[in-house]
Amino acid sequence: MATHDPRPVAYLVDLSARHQHLATVTMRVPEDVAADGGRLTVATWTPGSYVVRDYVHHLQHVAARDGAGRHVPLTPDGVSAWRVPPVAGELVVELEWYAFDASVRTNHVDDHHALLVGAATFPCFEPARDRPHHVHLTGLDHGEDVAVLLPGTGEGPYVADDHDQLVDAAIAVGTLRTSAVDVHGVEHRVVWAGHGDGVDVRGLADDLGRLAHAATDLLGGSLPAPRYTVLAIDGDGGGLEHRDGCVVAFAPHASTDPERRRRLQSLLAHEHLHLWNVRRLTPVDLLAPPLDRPVLTPSLWIAEGWTSYYDRLLPSRAGLWSVGDLLDALDRLRHAVDETPGATRQTLHDASRTAWTKFYRRDENTPNAGADYYAQGALAAFTLDVRLRSVEPDGDGLDAVLRDLWVRHGPDAAGRPRGYTEQDVLDAFARAGGDEVAALAERLTTVAGAPDPRDDLAVLALELVADESPPTPRLDVLAGNDGGRLRIRTVLRGGAAWTAGVSGGDELLAVDGETLTAEELPTVLRRHGPDAAVRLTLRRGPRVLEREVRLAPPRPRTRLRIARDAGVFARERFARWSGQPAPG
Ligand SMILES: [Zn+2]
Repeated sequence: MATHDPRPVAYLVDLSARHQHLATVTMRVPEDVAADGGRLTVATWTPGSYVVRDYVHHLQHVAARDGAGRHVPLTPDGVSAWRVPPVAGELVVELEWYAFDASVRTNHVDDHHALLVGAATFPCFEPARDRPHHVHLTGLDHGEDVAVLLPGTGEGPYVADDHDQLVDAAIAVGTLRTSAVDVHGVEHRVVWAGHGDGVDVRGLADDLGRLAHAATDLLGGSLPAPRYTVLAIDGDGGGLEHRDGCVVAFAPHASTDPERRRRLQSLLAHEHLHLWNVRRLTPVDLLAPPLDRPVLTPSLWIAEGWTSYYDRLLPSRAGLWSVGDLLDALDRLRHAVDETPGATRQTLHDASRTAWTKFYRRDENTPNAGADYYAQGALAAFTLDVRLRSVEPDGDGLDAVLRDLWVRHGPDAAGRPRGYTEQDVLDAFARAGGDEVAALAERLTTVAGAPDPRDDLAVLALELVADESPPTPRLDVLAGNDGGRLRIRTVLRGGAAWTAGVSGGDELLAVDGETLTAEELPTVLRRHGPDAAVRLTLRRGPRVLEREVRLAPPRPRTRLRIARDAGVFARERFARWSGQPAPG
């Protein structure tokens, strides 16, 4: 007997009130699924960004009617959901969104462009969650371009297999600059939706292509998506992965400044690797997650941490970074983790579970309160990688573990991710390097403290040496330029400024009576011997305070370099790991 595909849920997105930052969504639910009624929900968070955002905050209006145009009452069922009674004919829901929140995770529409993310735009009629969902656009200005992270063209329809795919999509409208490259038969596009003509879209597409080749080599040869799109908007960094692409934000001039370009290459590598790691190789807790409440997983140290490790390695393997760039990036990673007090106060599993209330709710105390599963997860990945390569010098280290997890826990024959648990990951380490490596992985995730790769660096022809940059006595703060003011962002717990009663958020007006800029602070501190006392003049709200701080001795920092006595086999392993010959 022939079966018929279920009729889709259809959305019409009207952008004609863009100057007022309004987007209207009309949702049509077919009568065969509307007949029994059900729950209508608006997501409170978006996949990939683990914080409750309460998108319903921006909802201006919601109303429902049936197929004959009769009013259908919506009964609130929680802050972001309504109960819908059984309906005669189709169910039509109309929503008006205020959209003036510019980030990679939120909606922003104005006269210049529109960026809509699925979770913040498309409510879910729960009984129809597994049906196809179609999107049409209207109210576009003549000649505007559209880029959507779903199959479709022009004003639509854009087709999602189910609501989970729809909330994991994004839409950009405006005068878009697009450049594309082919990677193993899969089109990779960079779409600039921000302001300014100075962005090197062509060059970024070439970078993306080289990074995608490196990632595909890492994961075993083929790309899991039919097309990959980077939607790029104005902003100061940050990205969000989607099933078949990502949204990234950067300043228009970042693409032409060498240091910022390297950071962009790292961001592109990071988001692209999420095609596998997270989007299709998914912690079991995050498979089809409920979007109306937080979902806890211990595995963000893999989802984000391993991705952050490879976002440093892949630009090297792609030939975009020099060996020096790679080692510098790993040094910055080690220093950041070593100098984060929270690294010793929280395990990686706990940091992952508390992402919702700690890491994503950043404030001046965040580095003291917990571990950073991005940086610390990346350092754990590096530590495990060199340990595996020490145990199995001819093996592929963490690459092999990632491939093993992909084969066992990636998509099934029907293309649905099977999900993995932390035990699955320990089993993969045991297969690759034996029980001792699995025990190391367990220790790195269940015991607080900074991972330390130093014992195994020689396997990659690497060694740590003392950093020769001039030693700086420490205030033990994180400080920077904040609109021309020197702001102490964080006072590190237990450090010199902490002991003296300085607060995160204080503005530093003067040291020993002399005003200074953020750039001058290290020079001013270097004038003092360790253990010297300095007098800080601070502004805290309406008050001006003085605090005497006894400086802490300079922190002995180390840096990675190619070992002088490295043998030929270690150098070959370095080349296989980094994608480049070991210099010297
Ligand atoms: Zn990420």
